[in-house]
Amino acid sequence: MKYSEVFYTIQGEGQLIGVPSVFFRTSYCNLRCVWCDTPYTSWNPENKDMIVADAVELITGYGCKHVVITGGEPFVQVPELTELCHELDRRGHHLTIETNATIFAPVTAHLISMSPKLRNSNPPRDNRYFRRHERGRICADVIRQFLDQYECQVKFVVDCPEDLEEIQTLQADIPIPVETVVLMPQGITPEELRPKQEWLVDICKTHGYRYSPRVHVDIWGNQRGV
Ligand code: SF4
Repeated sequence: MKYSEVFYTIQGEGQLIGVPSVFFRTSYCNLRCVWCDTPYTSWNPENKDMIVADAVELITGYGCKHVVITGGEPFVQVPELTELCHELDRRGHHLTIETNATIFAPVTAHLISMSPKLRNSNPPRDNRYFRRHERGRICADVIRQFLDQYECQVKFVVDCPEDLEEIQTLQADIPIPVETVVLMPQGITPEELRPKQEWLVDICKTHGYRYSPRVHVDIWGNQRGV
């Protein structure tokens, strides 16, 4: 399985914020967000490889119930992801899969943490990935399938107040329950996050969405393995 890092920390975002968790970060992604905080899995993907049995042993070795499989995009490796989730579930772990919600496969998971990408994620128009990213970033059928079949949260990375309109347009098309929606400010440093927090909290209060800080960024900034 292609991966970039495995580490033990706390979940920094969303419903399980603060919960000690082992993160297994897969490598490779089908999108190219301009602000991607893990470019070593997308724009310049690392190519480390591990068989699933070794990944299971490494992950279980931390002795931690919660496991987060993140990326990159974990669903670009469906056979390996399916086996990994099956084996970790058999060993009693709680599994969160963090996905950009563009590829569906029926894997074992206890929380699907979708993060559909808004327009603010587009690379510049003259970038060779622009068209592919813009065309592929929202897959309504995939979001619907996850919502129908799994416990879900739907996280949006918000860059400016105008992004709200795009979220609401999406909600008009896909019945995303308001209680599953989580809004997070865009930024990979505390300095970038800070000015976006107050107006984003106001949006959450007005519309009943959950606000999520990005605790790992607040504590450690733009660092790997935390
Ligand atoms: S979907 Fe995630 S991993 Fe892929 S480019 Fe966007 S932020 Fe990076």
